[in-house]
Amino acid sequence: MNALVYHGPGEKSWDSVPTPTISKPTDAIVKMLKTTICGTDLHILKGDVPEVSSGRILGHEGVGIVEETGGAVSNFKKGDHVLISCITSCGKCEYCKRQMYSHCEDGGWILGHLIDGTQAEYVLIPQADNSLYPIPAGTDEEALVMLSDILPTGFEIGVLYGAVKPGDTVAIVGAGPVGMAALLTAQFFSPGRIIMIDIDESRLGLAMKFGATEVINSAKVDPAERIKASTKDGVDVAIEAVGIPQTFDVCQRIVRPGGHVANVGVHGKSVDFQIQTLWAQNITLTTGLVNTNTTAMLLKTVESKKLKPENLITHRFTFDQFLQAYEVFSNAEKEHALKVIISNA
Ligand code: NAD
Ligand code: ZN
Ligand code: ZN
Repeated sequence: MNALVYHGPGEKSWDSVPTPTISKPTDAIVKMLKTTICGTDLHILKGDVPEVSSGRILGHEGVGIVEETGGAVSNFKKGDHVLISCITSCGKCEYCKRQMYSHCEDGGWILGHLIDGTQAEYVLIPQADNSLYPIPAGTDEEALVMLSDILPTGFEIGVLYGAVKPGDTVAIVGAGPVGMAALLTAQFFSPGRIIMIDIDESRLGLAMKFGATEVINSAKVDPAERIKASTKDGVDVAIEAVGIPQTFDVCQRIVRPGGHVANVGVHGKSVDFQIQTLWAQNITLTTGLVNTNTTAMLLKTVESKKLKPENLITHRFTFDQFLQAYEVFSNAEKEHALKVIISNA
């Protein structure tokens, strides 16, 4: 089969590699139909994620058709159309019982990280019963690719940890795919205002289309000053979806006393954590890894058309254009790219 293989910092190619085979009875092999590229893949390619070794097949998002199942897989059979979770989990251990799938004691693997991923014609899914979701007939499969990672991330770590409530003023810092996912799913709770903050005008324009009530270009104006002028003491919920110290700091400065800061961004290094101010103002600060424990719920919202994540897709390619898809996604600002879909045409 062919797959997008990481060959060390800065190096990748669309290679011919062995097709995976079942090694444990809980495994399934899935024939990929559609996958995408995530910002994390670009981090791996830069060499920022040293635990990913050369030879790894990248990708952790996608939909496909079950090709083969191990003897212990009971929820799926050959021919089933499935949504792949970015995290594999057993569903049975202490952490899985708490729905903390990213901490599964017999899995918790991110595809395309320590195990091979979805940017391939076939992928091996460990713990298939708990790591795959059946796709109801008639559901837009392309839209579901957004549910492998970015939608659960924005929803669980941004919106749910941030405890968005009806009438709230919510600020989301970062209009990338994850920030946009928070924007789409925050609307489940009918907040009064959703302010999107970014430095990219084209993404801010998209955010208005996706339901933001206002946008702030933080390259041009200080978001803290703008927000303090239009709220009593700041926002109820500030969601950090960039992953740099400056944007974490913006969240600390725009939240009202008693409000929530929900950090979604992966910082990699420390941020300037204003513990004294947060303490004095009774701020709740949350953060964490996505658990993908809301995927089934999100799938229903796509099925009922309450959630339309397909709007996040800006570019479409076929598997033989994989390198071109990377080129476009790597130049997202210039290309006005948000999510690219690559189909096994
Ligand atoms: P992205 O890089 O595509 O988007 C980030 C956005 O931030 C861009 O639109 C960019 O213009 C904007 N930005 C950059 N600098 C800014 C600044 N100074 N002020 C305001 N905006 C600025 O990233 P993404 O794929 O949307 O992911 C967002 C974050 O979420 C990343 O840190 C990613 O690693 C993290 N993430 C976390 C989890 C989790 O489990 N918690 C899962 C997936 C991704
Ligand atoms: Zn991702
Ligand atoms: Zn488990």
